Amino acid sequence: MRGLLNIEANTDWYGTAHHEFGHAFYFLAYRRPEVPPLLRDSPVSGLHEGIAELGAFAARQAPYLQSIGILPAGTAPDPVAFLLDDALNPSLPFMFFASGTMTHWEADLYARDLPPDQWNARWWQYVRDFQGIEPPEPRGEQWCDAATKTHINSVPCYYANYAIATVIRFQLHDFIAKKFLHQPPQSCNYAGHTEVGDFLRTIMEKGATEDWRQVLRDATGEELSTRAMLEYFAPLQAWLEEQNHGREIGWE
Ligand SMILES: [Zn+2]
Repeated sequence: MRGLLNIEANTDWYGTAHHEFGHAFYFLAYRRPEVPPLLRDSPVSGLHEGIAELGAFAARQAPYLQSIGILPAGTAPDPVAFLLDDALNPSLPFMFFASGTMTHWEADLYARDLPPDQWNARWWQYVRDFQGIEPPEPRGEQWCDAATKTHINSVPCYYANYAIATVIRFQLHDFIAKKFLHQPPQSCNYAGHTEVGDFLRTIMEKGATEDWRQVLRDATGEELSTRAMLEYFAPLQAWLEEQNHGREIGWE
């Protein structure tokens, strides 16, 4: 497999590169004679994105970073710092954007004929409601701030897949860490465990020949569920509750 990457050597692109290679492994897995060409895809886009996200997520685990020398050997990574980064960078605030702001705004636009003179106000209403963020200055209807997100222009009504992918990523990761690695999901290393690749291949090589719910159920024994996500962040939740004791949480 080869990738032509126009990237820089930093953490963001490190994650994106692993994400895209996750897609590439998926492409290769279902490209076989047993899968009709029209079904050479994932059964739901959230699963393609979930596998891709799993690649990026596994590559960010501290023991793996140490094993390839990105984290200096002998350092003791702060588990809370890693969990905070896992929570803030690719996971939790993102859910409110992906399944909240983006999807509700697009539903208003395409299904409910939101008039163009309300597009920007509605966007910022959802940003406020779901994400708790105010614009830095009043944003009038001469702007369409939603269009600064590339998927609004290039891949309409796709973004909910990333929210589903986030949930699936935690389910697969949890299953892999416990079943194959016998390591805690919060700190594990996939490298060298070919049985993990074999497991993922059983999901990917089906292409879109089976219903995605059945594929997920067969692979993990579970329905789509945020259980694994909640368990992953349980140590962080306990730490945050301690840190924020007596503080009022939320926004008006
Ligand atoms: Zn992707």
